[in-house]
Amino acid sequence: KTSGRSTFCFFEAEMDAGIQKRRRLEIDLRQAIAGDEFEIFYQPQVNTETENVVGFEALVRWHHPDRGLVSPAEFIPLAEETGLIVPLGEWVLRQACKDAATWPKNIKVAVNLSPLQFRSPLLIHTVVSALGDSGLTPCQLELEITESVLLTDSESALATLHHIKGLGVQIAMDDFGTGYSSLSYLRLFPFDKIKIDQSFIRELGTSKDCAAIVKAVVDLGYSLGITTTAEGVETPEQLDRVRRHGCTEIQGYLFGKPLPVSHVPEVLAKGQAAVPSVQD
Ligand code: C2E
Ligand code: MG
Ligand code: MG
Ligand code: MG
Repeated sequence: KTSGRSTFCFFEAEMDAGIQKRRRLEIDLRQAIAGDEFEIFYQPQVNTETENVVGFEALVRWHHPDRGLVSPAEFIPLAEETGLIVPLGEWVLRQACKDAATWPKNIKVAVNLSPLQFRSPLLIHTVVSALGDSGLTPCQLELEITESVLLTDSESALATLHHIKGLGVQIAMDDFGTGYSSLSYLRLFPFDKIKIDQSFIRELGTSKDCAAIVKAVVDLGYSLGITTTAEGVETPEQLDRVRRHGCTEIQGYLFGKPLPVSHVPEVLAKGQAAVPSVQD
């Protein structure tokens, strides 16, 4: 009985610590948004055939005053739960448009939209104003959403997507294959791009199933007129495989990790990144 009691206390204390850590993070996150603690890193997206850089994905980073760099995997979910993602996401969108407006016209910027942001009635206004203020050409902007935003109230999601497309902005489905992955989404919603989740790319060499899925998605995209991007390409072997499957673009450490905006000109100057293919 005594041990039962102390176990209970132990769990309670552990739970308290968890809640406290979360509260602390939430307070810090609020301050970070008010302050100047965020930075966008940019990861190159490369055409599979030419190996030319065609765009960059904007990935937010948080420089915490005490903890150093905090991963988005840790704070994005909390920002989503607390609603702080709306002001944070707006900052990312505006900053990314400003940055990309200084890049060559054929280089795109991809910005992630969280489900809450996507459903915000202010979204369209924010996109229009971010484009207007930065002077970025709408077709240089791509917004990434995940399948989860299509699950609830898909009629208004469809209206929002058409509204965004009407502005000339592109839409990508992110992390394809990890969520509910209804193939009918690809027919019903006006996507320009499917990003095949990195979990499939990771196992391309070892899992016949993953290879079959990647091939099927690429073929489907091709017949629907939707571009495909392989996420998380790390090795020349993976590049070789996604290339053989006909994936249009790749993104991954093989061609570059996310880096501060000051590195963009250097990445563009290298242009055709000198990554040897497997046959070389
Ligand atoms: P995501 O949108 O799917 O972004 C791709 C993630 O994969 C990034 O992680 C990127 O650094 C990582 N990655 C790219 N290539 C490779 C590779 O070759 N190997 C491995 N192991 N990883 C690779 P990151 O930057 O930590 O971001 C994680 C997630 O956080 C993003 O996944 C996205 O869902 C979210 N996120 C990041 N920035 C934002 C933002 O500004 N707004 C919103 N709403 N979400 C964001
Ligand atoms: Mg993304
Ligand atoms: Mg992704
Ligand atoms: Mg992801």
